[in-house]
Amino acid sequence: MQSSPNVVAGRSCGTCTLCCRLPDIDHLDKPANAWCRHCVAGKGCSIYADRPSVCRDFLCLWMTDEGLAEVWEPSLSHMVVYRQGPQVTVLVDPDHPDVWRKEPYHSHLRTWADDAEATGGYVIVFSQDDVFKM
Ligand code: SF4
Ligand code: SF4
Repeated sequence: MQSSPNVVAGRSCGTCTLCCRLPDIDHLDKPANAWCRHCVAGKGCSIYADRPSVCRDFLCLWMTDEGLAEVWEPSLSHMVVYRQGPQVTVLVDPDHPDVWRKEPYHSHLRTWADDAEATGGYVIVFSQDDVFKM
């Protein structure tokens, strides 16, 4: 997926295609953690001009929130983070299922969860078939 006007200066998807693998996407009959059939590894979307709106409208939080440090770049962290109302969703690359337990990530997640709790929010981590509420 590519840039849009609200992208943090200096950030871009580059060769990252993690959001074409980790989420389940009903519109594309794509289950979680399976590559989209339209994704070309290391290149991107083969139907970019005609990709569905669910793809056009998505940017992960690293792309749009400068509060996420560079260590959260998905190609480095092996995680995709995004907001859904009060929920901060963290999808973990199944090839690195325990990365969210490691530092600095776990401490960041704990801080986000504590901050979110003050306003009724929470952090959910999806790793392989497991779901964790922070
Ligand atoms: S996970 Fe984020 S950085 Fe990676 S392709 Fe998707 S929107 Fe771009
Ligand atoms: S249609 Fe394109 S942008 Fe959407 S998930 Fe598939 S490869 Fe990614």
